[in-house]
Amino acid sequence: MIRVLSVFGTRPEAIKMAPVVRALQGAPDRFESIICVSAQHRAMLDQVLRVFGLQADYDLDLMTAAQSPAEVTARVLERLPPLLRQIRPDVLLVQGDTMTSFAAAFAAYLERIPSGHVEAGLRTGNRYQPFPEEMNRVLTARLASIHFAPTPQARTALLSEGVPPADVHLTGNTVIDALLQTVQPNYSFRSPQLASLDPGRRLVLVTTHRRESFGAPLQATCAAIRELAGRHPDLQFVLPVHPNPQVKQTVERLLCDLPGMFLIEPVDYLEFVHLMNRAYLVLTDSGGVQEEAPSLGKPVLVLREVTERPEGVEAGTAVIVGTDRDRIVKVAGELLTSRQAYERMANAVNPYGDGQASGRIVSALAERFA
Ligand code: UDP
Repeated sequence: MIRVLSVFGTRPEAIKMAPVVRALQGAPDRFESIICVSAQHRAMLDQVLRVFGLQADYDLDLMTAAQSPAEVTARVLERLPPLLRQIRPDVLLVQGDTMTSFAAAFAAYLERIPSGHVEAGLRTGNRYQPFPEEMNRVLTARLASIHFAPTPQARTALLSEGVPPADVHLTGNTVIDALLQTVQPNYSFRSPQLASLDPGRRLVLVTTHRRESFGAPLQATCAAIRELAGRHPDLQFVLPVHPNPQVKQTVERLLCDLPGMFLIEPVDYLEFVHLMNRAYLVLTDSGGVQEEAPSLGKPVLVLREVTERPEGVEAGTAVIVGTDRDRIVKVAGELLTSRQAYERMANAVNPYGDGQASGRIVSALAERFA
């Protein structure tokens, strides 16, 4: 039996770890799967656990109001080691780029427990963009013993940093596994607001929450949305508002009176997947959404100056528009008016995976730790 301890704490980590945990649970003769959540983002994490029917075996419950990245790290390093000594997993799994991922991998290292990194090798090459995620990825790669790269580019990045090839497994991104396990035909929204969307109007889905977007960039994005709404009166917009006050105050001030605009609370993953499925176009600064939306045939405009996910841009599923008002309006306008431009993006092949990543991860773990 291989004892695997999965540690995660935020919504995107939980979404991307859920299919891996399910795959481990599906092989009870080979694996003992244990979940420890840090609850770095309490409410949004719990939403995901509910959607996937997962229960935490251990909960560090470390979130506090206005927590800094350093405080989150300190609390993981304080609370996780006693559990590691008690559980003694054969391998600890972390996902992505959060303070929880880095701190848990570091705690494992200090206990001489090997760690595996899911979604390894994403890089912008700029240590402050995205912040602090870029550094968390680099540090987690230094600490991990086995790396699950979602794309060939991510694998190459790891090899160029000196990670031994035998330790890197090309798997695809588990976000596509999660998406394909969740999307349903003929879904009806539970939220009355979303159920009231007009099926005759095209829907633009917007998400924005990155630190780099706070302030002027976010204001420019809001101005672009107002301009698009004015030029294309058939559009409806849905923006699940991230609870961070820097996001909430700006978007509510600049967009609350816009006709056809739905500013809503963050919705759970089940509702969100079907919002993407219902959308005509997606505007986002989220990493996960850039990866997911193309699997549903939705063009993505990336509201960031750089992306650690260049594969989508190269494949033609995404365009980087930054947070420049005029550029957003121009690129979105083309997709809203030219059927040909729209079809080209909507039909481009998603480079992030085929929905089988978690099976590959579990096979690699079985081979390595048996
Ligand atoms: N998501 C969700 N509800 C929302 C907005 C997003 O469940 O209201 C999901 C989305 O499907 C994606 C993930 O949350 O898988 C993205 O999380 P986020 O944008 O917070 O983080 P990032 O992907 O940028 O790390």
